[in-house]
Amino acid sequence: MSARASSCPGCRLLLPEREGPAHPYLGSSPACWELYGEVLAREYSEPAYFGVHQLTVDTYAVQHPGVAERRSIQSVALHLITLSLMVERGAIAAWSPSCTSALPSAAG
Ligand SMILES: [Zn+2]
Repeated sequence: MSARASSCPGCRLLLPEREGPAHPYLGSSPACWELYGEVLAREYSEPAYFGVHQLTVDTYAVQHPGVAERRSIQSVALHLITLSLMVERGAIAAWSPSCTSALPSAAG
């Protein structure tokens, strides 16, 4: 007997339905949140994957915007800015967590 599938409200990925925690304001299902945690664990445990860690974090956050409220809107905005800096302007991923302090000069 297979487990019942549910769609993640953020990315629409179908995964077996699961009870468990999810992010407080990102709009992810518990199963998708758990899978994301497995990806992060892999990135932290294998240096070859850590080079894309910031892209993973920013992309996941943008794909799971959640309910429109101040903190989720600000979160999506910051992750989109970071993605833009990395993809369109060639910013290095290791720099992006501190991008908020550098935004005026980077965006100019
Ligand atoms: Zn998802």
